[in-house]
Amino acid sequence: MRILITGGAGFLGSHLCERLLNEGNEVICLDNFFTGRKSNVAHLLPNSNFELMRHDVIDPFKVEVDQIYNLACPASPVHYQYNPIKTTKTSVMGAINCLGLAKRVNARVFQASTSEVYGDPDVHPQPESYWGHVNTIGIRSCYDEGKRCAETLFFDYHREHQVDIRVVRIFNTYGPRMLADDGRVVSNFIVQALQGQDITVYGEGQQTRSFCYVDDLIEGFVRLMNQEQVVGPMNIGNPNEFTILQLAQRVIELTGSQSKIVYRPMPQDDPKQRQPDIRQAREVLDWEPQVQLDAGLKATIDYFAQQL
Ligand code: NAD
Ligand code: UDP
Repeated sequence: MRILITGGAGFLGSHLCERLLNEGNEVICLDNFFTGRKSNVAHLLPNSNFELMRHDVIDPFKVEVDQIYNLACPASPVHYQYNPIKTTKTSVMGAINCLGLAKRVNARVFQASTSEVYGDPDVHPQPESYWGHVNTIGIRSCYDEGKRCAETLFFDYHREHQVDIRVVRIFNTYGPRMLADDGRVVSNFIVQALQGQDITVYGEGQQTRSFCYVDDLIEGFVRLMNQEQVVGPMNIGNPNEFTILQLAQRVIELTGSQSKIVYRPMPQDDPKQRQPDIRQAREVLDWEPQVQLDAGLKATIDYFAQQL
């Protein structure tokens, strides 16, 4: 198959490019390099089945493809809040452009949605049927509402034009090729620990997240994309939940670092708890995560140790 991946030079996108090329597909990677890097996909350039295209998803694009994975959007709060209007445009215009292309060339199209559609959830763990608890006007809203609107567009294109859609709600995922200055918690803590800097825990560190290793997530993506039914949005994530303080302690232990934990103010609207209900993924995809936190952290620590 010929497959377009928007945001393909980013953290998740580069792993997806690699996986789909390894399966013998042709891959077109489209990226504006805001948070992605050529170096993430440099090792794929010699492969004649791989093409790299500098382009912004808010502008229409025309390519003949069988499948589209729409991943373009900054994912770290630091980056998506840098230019919040652009973040919403990326999600909304990017979805419209991918869906328009999918309709024209009759391609199956996949949307990388997020657990952020649940906002600061008051249902725990979060099943797909939960409608969420999102502030429409806060500093995270550009991302949350952009992604919610993208989901709406996907289901309207499906109902109105029978576009063949797949929508995944991704929960916190980590691994090699995150940016060292990405601002997300796993990369921050590992880089701080390796450099002997203070580990910056926001608030008291009692907020929770459930961390999924990148290889497990990509396996879930490919299974969802290639099963034949259009199902509702599907949670993909690792249901093992940790407080941020526990994560800081694991990182210190696994790196053997002398770093001290310091406490910083909690950012506005930071969700207090997050854990995916993955019953749907288990039933429909026969999928569940294989890599647990310590093993995934070790692989990520090895990557950053080489990078730094
Ligand atoms: P990332 O920032 O590493 O990757 C995003 C990629 O999109 C980058 O290569 C960036 O340059 C590109 N991009 C951004 N705006 C663009 C635009 N306007 N036009 C073209 N390219 C653009 O982040 P990631 O973690 O790889 O996330 C990939 C996708 O998965 C995003 O849509 C994100 O919202 C979603 N997601 C990720 C997580 C996670 O934990 N990693 C969780 C939920 C959702
Ligand atoms: N966080 C932290 N220290 C950091 C970076 C993040 O304590 O240096 C916290 C952040 O406040 C949040 C959690 O870690 O509660 C996860 O943050 P991240 O930005 O990785 O993802 P998201 O909030 O989007 O789930």
